[in-house]
Amino acid sequence: MLDTLEISVKKVEKSRIEEVDFNNIPFGRIYSDHMFIADYKDGEWTDLRIQPYENLSLAPASSVIHYGQSVFEGLKAYKTKSGQTTIFRPMANASRLNKSAERMCIPEVPEELFMQALEKLLKIDSAWIPNQNGNSLYIRPFIFAMDDYIGIKPSDTYRFMIITCPVGSYYSEPVKVKIESVYTRAAKGGTGFAKAAGNYAGALYPARLAQKQGYHQLLWTDAKQHKYIEESGTMNIMFVINDTLITPEIGSTILNGITRNSVVTLARDWGMQVEERKVSVDEIIQAAKDGTLQEAFGAGTAATIAHIKLIGHEGVDYTLPAIEERKFSNKVLKALDAIKSGESEDKFGWLHM
Ligand code: PMP
Repeated sequence: MLDTLEISVKKVEKSRIEEVDFNNIPFGRIYSDHMFIADYKDGEWTDLRIQPYENLSLAPASSVIHYGQSVFEGLKAYKTKSGQTTIFRPMANASRLNKSAERMCIPEVPEELFMQALEKLLKIDSAWIPNQNGNSLYIRPFIFAMDDYIGIKPSDTYRFMIITCPVGSYYSEPVKVKIESVYTRAAKGGTGFAKAAGNYAGALYPARLAQKQGYHQLLWTDAKQHKYIEESGTMNIMFVINDTLITPEIGSTILNGITRNSVVTLARDWGMQVEERKVSVDEIIQAAKDGTLQEAFGAGTAATIAHIKLIGHEGVDYTLPAIEERKFSNKVLKALDAIKSGESEDKFGWLHM
């Protein structure tokens, strides 16, 4: 760690926290009192500051608006049972942010800047970290291009920001998914492994088509043949077949999910057979037909585990076993919750206090 960085602080005159009903929080709509900002110019991050959450003023020509040169992260902070603030694996997010940044020609944010900004912001807005079961503070760090220039080139100026919002659980209900066989989220050589803004914009239209057909989200497949399953909406996808945990291997088209890594680590630690490899659509459909597909779920920060209750493929819907019967995903969700709340040992050093 470098010496403590200088981060100026301007606090709100009056907190908005009393307006928030913490028993009924909509996802991603209510922001905490403060936000962090740093500006990149002349090759360095400058003017580090925490200030009241408020609208930005941007030039209409700002390159992020036109060309989407922007990357972001998503992570969560919790209050442990003893009331201490804890952040789940933030260094992994700092490192992934920089991998995404490199792919989009965005300058890296030094890990110590990321961590010190985050720690200071959470200290100031500590009252916004919910302590009810399942609730947490969602943290959204992001970097975007600021040049006031209508021309395509990497920007010379950027802004790194962190905003936070208290949230309940993201998906409460098990989801119905459709295997996508026309549209593509990510191709080899593309930006799928990066948390780049444009990836999400491009995924909206196919997802909306699936929603019109009664599904909640898509199972994305490979761009070339639509033969191999890659991700589930904005989560990593996992299956349990014959008591083996199977998940697509990480590559250039799949986001290297921190929840995915945590789930795989716990499964291996419990002695479960884990396979990270190509997962074909045919294999999953066959397993759904012959009853060996015991579980399917998405893994991601927002929901931790999103049980999949039905998979649609080529006009046929396959209903999966009842959620209560799913041993692994229920167990791993409980185990992760227990680690985050400080109830069970943090064996892998995932909590940042
Ligand atoms: N895949 C995509 C495309 C995502 O946007 C996310 C959410 N960050 C994930 C997977 C899950 O990643 P994580 O577990 O780190 O939230």
